[in-house]
Amino acid sequence: MPKGLVIIISAPSGTGKSTICQRLLKSRRNIRYNVTCTTRAPRPGETDGRHYFFVDREEFKRRIRNHEFVEWAMVHDQYYGVPRSFLESTVEKGLDVLLAIDVQGAQTLKRKYPDCVLIFLLPPSITTLKERLQSRREASESLAKRLANSRGELGAAKNYDYLVVNDDLDKAVSHISSIITAEGLRLSRRRQVDLDHLVR
Ligand code: ADP
Repeated sequence: MPKGLVIIISAPSGTGKSTICQRLLKSRRNIRYNVTCTTRAPRPGETDGRHYFFVDREEFKRRIRNHEFVEWAMVHDQYYGVPRSFLESTVEKGLDVLLAIDVQGAQTLKRKYPDCVLIFLLPPSITTLKERLQSRREASESLAKRLANSRGELGAAKNYDYLVVNDDLDKAVSHISSIITAEGLRLSRRRQVDLDHLVR
C-alpha cells in the first residue's frame, strides 16, 4: 500500500490554520490531523486531544528526553512539539497526515520527511491579520508579540512548495484540497504496479 502524504501548513498566528485544518478534516476522508503537544494554556473552545495535547512543562521535558517528538520548539515562550508515533503509524496505513506547525518546525520536518508537502498560508493583509487575532480575544501583550513575529514568519514563505492566500475561506480550503489531490497523483508517488498493469 502506498504511504500517505505528510502535509504541513504554516502561517503567521491568526491567519486561519486551525480553521482551515478543521474544514479539511470534515471534507476529506483519508486525512488525519496530527495533534501538536503544547505547554500553552487552552483558549476558549479548545479541547485537549482535538486542538492540542495540553501538558505542563515538566511533562513536556520528560517527553523530549524520551524522544517522543519528531521535532519540538519554543514559540512565543511556550513549548510546541510534534508527537512521532501517530504521524508514522498513520502514513504507514496509507492515510494523509495534516500538521499545522511553525516555520522552524516545518524545515525540520522537511529534512526528516523529504517527500512532505509544504503549504504556506498568507493573510490578505497585515490589517486583516490583526483583526483576526483580535477576534480571538488575544491578550494585548500576546497580540503585539504575535504580530512582531509575523514578519519573520512571512519571510520564510519562500521555502515552501505552495502559497495560498486565506481571503475567502471556502476558496482557500478548496485550493489546499486541490493541492493534496494533485500531490497524491504525482507519478513519483504512484506504485510501480499502477503502470505495470496498464502496459502489460
Ligand atoms: P491560526 O490557527 O492560524 O492561528 P485561526 O484558525 O485560529 O488561526 O483563525 C484566526 C481567526 O480568523 C478566527 O477567529 C477565525 O474564525 C478567523 N478566520 C480564519 N479564516 C478566515 C477567513 N478566510 N475569513 C475571515 N475570518 C477568518
